[in-house]
Amino acid sequence: MSQCKATNRQGNRCGRSAVPGATVCNMHGGKAPQVQAKAAERLLEAQATAYVQRFGGRTDIDPPTALLELVQAKRAEVGYWAEQLADREPESLIGAPELALLHKSQDQLASYSVGSLRAGVNGTTSDNAMQAARTLFTVMQRAIDQLGLTADQRQRALNVIARELDALVGPEHGEDDL
Ligand SMILES: [Zn+2]
Repeated sequence: MSQCKATNRQGNRCGRSAVPGATVCNMHGGKAPQVQAKAAERLLEAQATAYVQRFGGRTDIDPPTALLELVQAKRAEVGYWAEQLADREPESLIGAPELALLHKSQDQLASYSVGSLRAGVNGTTSDNAMQAARTLFTVMQRAIDQLGLTADQRQRALNVIARELDALVGPEHGEDDL
């Protein structure tokens, strides 16, 4: 956290910490709605930048656009592998490299989607958020199926995940089922 940039009556620099994302502390305007709004915006921008770096996205465009681009490209990749596997017999899928690639791209899409949601990317519409939640649910379901849980444990785990995903995509989507 950075130091407040305001000076006190003695002309010394204020010793308090600035509000996260802002340049001033609570005593020096940090509580003003416009300062808080700007601070929240800066924090989201910083978050978006961090995710773009982590995911290896483009750095020559603004971070939210780069995140959207990553999500869209990865969604297309998931669609491609799903299509490759669509007409195959279930037995032929065991150990198929296409299946491993489908799972890998689903995992990446899940990470990218969560990153975009958490960075509050504009254009992460409720529709995109629901798609992201569905992808995450698929990935987690797959993970759970490898744990050898009882039917009851499995159902309970899935319920917890569904609840957490609802919380992630926002209360306005709470009515939708996954
Ligand atoms: Zn201050």
